Amino acid sequence: MVSRREFLQHSLAAGIGSVLLPAAVARAAEAPSLKIAAFRVDASPPKDHPLCGGWIKPVVGMDDPEEAIGFVLTGAGDPIVVCAVDWTGILNQTHIQFRQALAQAAGTTPDRVAIQCVHQHNAPFVCRNTQALLDTLGEGIQNLFPDFLDRVQDSLAKAVEKACQNLRPVTHIAHGQGKVEKVASNRRILGPDGNLADWRGSASKVERHWELPEGQIDPYLKTVAFYDGETKLVACHYYATHPMSYYGDGMVCSDFVGLARKRRQAEEPGCTHIYFTGASGNIAAGKYNNGTPEARIQLTDRIYAGIVASESKLSPVAVSSASWSATPVFLPVRDTLNESRLMDDVRNRDNALANRIRPAMMVSWMRRCEEKLPIVISALHVNDATMLHLPAESFLEYQLGAQAAAPNRFVATAAYGDGGPWYIPVETAYPQGGYEVSVALTDPKVEGVLSGGAKQVVGG
Ligand SMILES: [Zn+2]
Repeated sequence: MVSRREFLQHSLAAGIGSVLLPAAVARAAEAPSLKIAAFRVDASPPKDHPLCGGWIKPVVGMDDPEEAIGFVLTGAGDPIVVCAVDWTGILNQTHIQFRQALAQAAGTTPDRVAIQCVHQHNAPFVCRNTQALLDTLGEGIQNLFPDFLDRVQDSLAKAVEKACQNLRPVTHIAHGQGKVEKVASNRRILGPDGNLADWRGSASKVERHWELPEGQIDPYLKTVAFYDGETKLVACHYYATHPMSYYGDGMVCSDFVGLARKRRQAEEPGCTHIYFTGASGNIAAGKYNNGTPEARIQLTDRIYAGIVASESKLSPVAVSSASWSATPVFLPVRDTLNESRLMDDVRNRDNALANRIRPAMMVSWMRRCEEKLPIVISALHVNDATMLHLPAESFLEYQLGAQAAAPNRFVATAAYGDGGPWYIPVETAYPQGGYEVSVALTDPKVEGVLSGGAKQVVGG
């Protein structure tokens, strides 16, 4: 975006001086010539590949493919790459390497690449540093198959390169939102004393969990769509909930949010539909999901209905401004993490596999922080729409806070970027306890750092 100062300087240089320009001319002078191209690769893990990091049954078969879908956008400074991957998470240096590979492919810098996972659980949850640490044990414990990761990274880079050859103009942009009924619910049920009174995960067979209130959620599925004239080229959808109906059966699956996306995609082959999971560390479908195959179908229908409702509100307007903002943040490491104790757990052959891989992932996070490798928070702004990219399992409050910080903008949030820190609660959640807090790898002071970074890139 041309700043006001640059614009005025340009006007002065052109001899326009203090002559008041008609608004339309001023807009035309500032309108960027954006171009976009979508890309898509298969990201389904092969047979026997660890799922959810190796904590659950590995791949035995496939219900439906997992994909990595994204777009390259040019014309707002150096190229921008945004991508959603149907994986549980991409952590630490592995996330950085993916961003570097896509940046190189697009001829840009890694801080202009956002890779966000959708967070399905019958899916890869990958950290090469964790794998390297496990390799030192010499027991063949696996967090990922390195050749599979190489293959996905290479095919994504090639797809980005190819997309750069097939760019189309973006003349218009639209945004909309639609209410999703009976999908999201807060996992943390607080009692009158403000402490955690109950907890429900992504699925529950306990009737009480279906009856307890929804709690705080963001009920809206948001869409930002890019057009060349009348032709909708790319539609990005955002909704905040853990995306699992059921998992642990070894069947690769894009789950209900991916299935809803695929249904919409089949209806509109000319437009690339991308689904992003919002900040949903404390949000899941537990109130509305008994974990049966029937529930998966219902949840798919409801997300699909949300996409359709959101798209019905799309009203394209001419692109008048576009920019990218990014900031590195250093999230504070939880002081209860003790590397030597965690390494004892990693080495302990009496521990279940999951309880050896998990501490290895925690150590990888700690070491990454010692190396001062930041997490990058970024946002793409087009007209009054902002697409915010947050890390890991950020709590919903970060998404709501970013919206509140920019009340005049349409802020759509994708979380599950760099997955290194796992759950990122807000400060008040720590003393309440509960599962998410027990597996948060950041200090309670993280809230100030993360919400500060988010507000900075959103701009307000
Ligand atoms: Zn999660």
